Amino acid sequence: MRAEEFLSRLDGVKSLHSGQWMARCPSHDDSTASLGIREEADGRLLIKCFAECSTQSVLESLGLTFSDLFTERYLGHHKPINRRWTPRAICELMGASASNVALLWERMQNRKLTDEEFAIFRSELQNIILLGNEALNG
Ligand SMILES: [Zn+2]
Repeated sequence: MRAEEFLSRLDGVKSLHSGQWMARCPSHDDSTASLGIREEADGRLLIKCFAECSTQSVLESLGLTFSDLFTERYLGHHKPINRRWTPRAICELMGASASNVALLWERMQNRKLTDEEFAIFRSELQNIILLGNEALNG
């Protein structure tokens, strides 16, 4: 399956840069975008829920299977699958979460956060912790 086709099944898709996206995870109640999607040069799609849903449960929520993450082109080869996120990708995701935290923190100086804002604040902080663990344990 190509990335555009996969992304069209998701909500809240934001593009990080070429070949990398974040979207709302279909497998848990995701108030922010904690599902990372990466398209490798060889056409594989790597997905990772930073709230720790398994890849299988994310795929099941979308009615897909592991083979949908591969293109025909890739299935012709039999290379081992590398599911690791690069430190660079993790840093970018952490940076995105940290700037949301900073923004909400500033708002908090002037007024009380709404329940929704507070939920985002908490979940972004949680994302930063999960990403830190990902970087350590990869
Ligand atoms: Zn999830």
